[in-house]
Amino acid sequence: MSRSAFFQSVNHYFNRAARHSKYPKGLLEQVRACNAVYRMRFPVRADDGTIKVLEAFRAEHSFHRLPTKGGIRYSEKVTLDETIALASLMTYKCALVEVPFGGAKGGVQVNPFAASPGFLERVTRRYTAELIRKNFIGPDIDVPAPDYGTGEREMGWIADTYKSLRLNEPHPFACVTGKPLAMQGLPGRKEATGRGVFYGIRTALEDSELLKPTGLSTGVAGKRVIVQGLGNVGYHAAYFLQKEGGAIIVGIAEYEGGLWNPDGLDVEAVFKHRRETKSLTEFPGAEFHHDSKELLERECDLLVPAALEDVITAENAPRIQAKVIAEAANGPIDKGGEEILLKRGVLMLPDLYLNAGGVTVSYFEWLKNKAGVSFDRMISRREELMKRELVQEIERLTGKTFDDEQREHLILAPGEESIVNAALDQTMTRAYHKLGHVLKSRDIPDLRTAAFLSAIEHVAASYEHHGIFP
Ligand code: NAD
Repeated sequence: MSRSAFFQSVNHYFNRAARHSKYPKGLLEQVRACNAVYRMRFPVRADDGTIKVLEAFRAEHSFHRLPTKGGIRYSEKVTLDETIALASLMTYKCALVEVPFGGAKGGVQVNPFAASPGFLERVTRRYTAELIRKNFIGPDIDVPAPDYGTGEREMGWIADTYKSLRLNEPHPFACVTGKPLAMQGLPGRKEATGRGVFYGIRTALEDSELLKPTGLSTGVAGKRVIVQGLGNVGYHAAYFLQKEGGAIIVGIAEYEGGLWNPDGLDVEAVFKHRRETKSLTEFPGAEFHHDSKELLERECDLLVPAALEDVITAENAPRIQAKVIAEAANGPIDKGGEEILLKRGVLMLPDLYLNAGGVTVSYFEWLKNKAGVSFDRMISRREELMKRELVQEIERLTGKTFDDEQREHLILAPGEESIVNAALDQTMTRAYHKLGHVLKSRDIPDLRTAAFLSAIEHVAASYEHHGIFP
């Protein structure tokens, strides 16, 4: 069977990193192998009454930790190969940010942007029932989440289907993450991947040594950015880069074309325009280009591909002008493209690290669902009392008094969302420093190899310590 370019790229990155590892070949082979796959075909009634037979997949890449975890992708182009490659990336991603799960991924061959909500609901509920039938879903088995073409709505349907079919499950909503808030979702999960992308970029752009070959100054503020894909990840990454980082978003590419404005685009306004008109065309105050791929080759500091894989290949890599490429999507640069970019000294922030914020906050959502209590409930009153005492002590020692507004601001306890965001920030920063350590202490030439090596050895160590081999 000939493997897809994406699958081959992931394998190439794995093998390149594994060469730096001292773990035995057989164990490394087990780390790389996909442990289980479920391939299914099922009928769904279309809106016109006809029957459509859909092909779908779930790949559970690694059982070194349970549950396995990974998003569900809705796209006509989804294949088993792609699903397995994405599942393996999930294993390495979880290992890198120390989320105690194995990796998984799901895919359904359906175009979510053309189908009606009714059809998508029937597809999602049937797909969930299929996963239940083969034990490929459950709070301690395998926990899906959103990916390309799916979001809160689909996760809500999955949770509801699971809950109604698994009556004895004590925490049925822990079977899936990225749910709506009203169904035990977590504030901050929807934005988490894009927010994590921003935290990752911010941390990397503080590293002056890493930036040296690019000639860029440190810091996000004032950097000119092009983003590809204005979906969940792309929109939130662009939003936080602009709002919290002070970056200038000069280009936004979608599949119908792209917008360009060297003075900067208002990300929120562009998003609103596209949501309302279903297209980027006719957005006021920006040039519209029909060839959105060409937009990626324009002059900028930072390119953020946030749509799909294999966007930058040997064909267009020589023309990419960005000095840093931040892989918000999974696998946007294939191995041919990477080789050229590495030679040209372009800094690549690998997907494995950069978009791990989604699974990190999914882990928090799962913990909350299992515990049955929100993160702020147990600590907020206590924090408030501690801060009140501290403020009183400051007033006593300084002889000054705060006015009511200042005092309230100082003693305000963090809500659940700010607890989640702070933990995400810490996770991304810590993982970056871990990467930096591997890079320097093991003399590894690039961040992607460091990320793969770190993840591979984490999984290998866990297999070794738990003695899973009979
Ligand atoms: P999404 O469906 O919300 O958005 C994807 C966007 O990309 C859509 O607006 C689509 O129109 C656009 N797009 C598709 N083809 C394009 C093209 N050729 N040029 C320009 N734009 C194009 O999907 P998402 O959840 O944002 O996922 C995007 C990427 O991020 C995927 O690679 C996914 O695997 C990865 N990812 C997602 C999450 C998550 O939490 N959703 C987590 C980690 C990684």
